[in-house]
Amino acid sequence: MGSLPFYVQFPCRCLSNYSLFPMSAPISSCHDAQEADAYTLSTALHYLLNHLSTPQASEAIESVALMQSLGRVLAQPIYSPINVPAHTNSAMDGYAMRSVDLQDAELKSTLTVIGTAFAGHPFTETVARGQCVRIMTGAVMPTGADTVLMQERVTVQGDKIQFQTDENSGQNVRQAGEDVAIGQQVLSAGTKIYPAELGLIAALGIAEISVFKRLRVAFFSTGDELRPVGEILEKGQIYDSNRYTLFGMLSRLGVEIVDLGSIPDNPELLASALTRASEQADAIISSGGVSVGEADFIKPLLAELGEIQFWKLAIKPGRPFAFGKIKQAYFFGLPGNPVSTMVTFYQLVQPALQKMMGISPLPLQLSFKAKSEAKFKKQQGRTEFPRGYLKRAENGEWTVNSVGAQGSGILSSMTAANCFVILATEQGTVEVGDWVEVQPFNGLI
Ligand code: AMP
Ligand code: MG
Repeated sequence: MGSLPFYVQFPCRCLSNYSLFPMSAPISSCHDAQEADAYTLSTALHYLLNHLSTPQASEAIESVALMQSLGRVLAQPIYSPINVPAHTNSAMDGYAMRSVDLQDAELKSTLTVIGTAFAGHPFTETVARGQCVRIMTGAVMPTGADTVLMQERVTVQGDKIQFQTDENSGQNVRQAGEDVAIGQQVLSAGTKIYPAELGLIAALGIAEISVFKRLRVAFFSTGDELRPVGEILEKGQIYDSNRYTLFGMLSRLGVEIVDLGSIPDNPELLASALTRASEQADAIISSGGVSVGEADFIKPLLAELGEIQFWKLAIKPGRPFAFGKIKQAYFFGLPGNPVSTMVTFYQLVQPALQKMMGISPLPLQLSFKAKSEAKFKKQQGRTEFPRGYLKRAENGEWTVNSVGAQGSGILSSMTAANCFVILATEQGTVEVGDWVEVQPFNGLI
């Protein structure tokens, strides 16, 4: 299991034995009597990460060209077939020489330049006593030479150079294999390919790699009120925005997407969508219809077609959230309110899908403390995720402000914000000047 962010680690002592829970047992929150069957975020996340497994290497592997592998997940470790660098070479523009000559009093710190070595064009003769070779960064060290004098530190007169007395033996040289040694394991299975991994694999000369097949994720929205963009809204109708946020979040994860569109609040149509999805995909995500209203059919259908593991969370926004299984496909039923959809996706579904994609270790979820410039009303017993705007004050301190209305339907709060403020289970109301945990939306790479 990947390491969990601080706010889900030990929020609640009575849940510390999360891994021992039987499959379908509801787990009491020890803080909120009204939500006796709600899972805390911590319990839900531990449950998902314990329960879901990584792909089975034998069937789930394909070979892809390196250039096509950005965002994919290595199915096998990568061992280096070569030393990197392949040859000992200069780390500086300067003069390659023998280190013994540094101490040779008779030479009077003077050497004769016998040739030039460029990157890609080695100098092929041997450097003898009293000699040196003009060398550029990345050029192979000529035979006999083991030290490079920086050009800025020597005086040149014709074909002679004079060096200073405080040069060090072996300096400014990159040894063959100092980055990667031949045979060394460079990357482990489960590594997600980012730009640095692409470059490193290229540095080994490897053109094709084994990755896990893309995880197939089917998703749909549900609600009689939903209309696709491009149509005119009638009274009581709204545009299906979750289809777009889910599409965006899934695309960025790098899964293969099966878009099943929008399904009305109709049990027959929903049952057939769920069945179809379970036949096509490794995971199914729905938004809407997962609560206890009279048009909320997801939960009973999940129980009928498959199994429910849990369905209520002690978090805000995002309380109704169902997790279960239909045939071989895992099912995530997200609440329909647009911010709830995004919060539950990022806090639970994304790490769950990353585990299913075979990513190991799971990416670090960056969070840190910032000084609050706003009051955040907060109820103990659940984790809350108000949206915040994080900035750095002139004194170097990080501060976070509220982006205004925090309703779970206010999707503009997500575009106005650049972070979640994470108010953990035990936390009460935050006053101006209190330090709070923030989770920036943007990672660097
Ligand atoms: P539900 O989870 O179905 O009870 O829906 C909760 C709220 O979210 C309702 O106001 C819905 O109209 C709204 N909603 C549900 N699905 C979507 C969607 N796909 N896009 C935008 N809003 C939605
Ligand atoms: Mg609905």
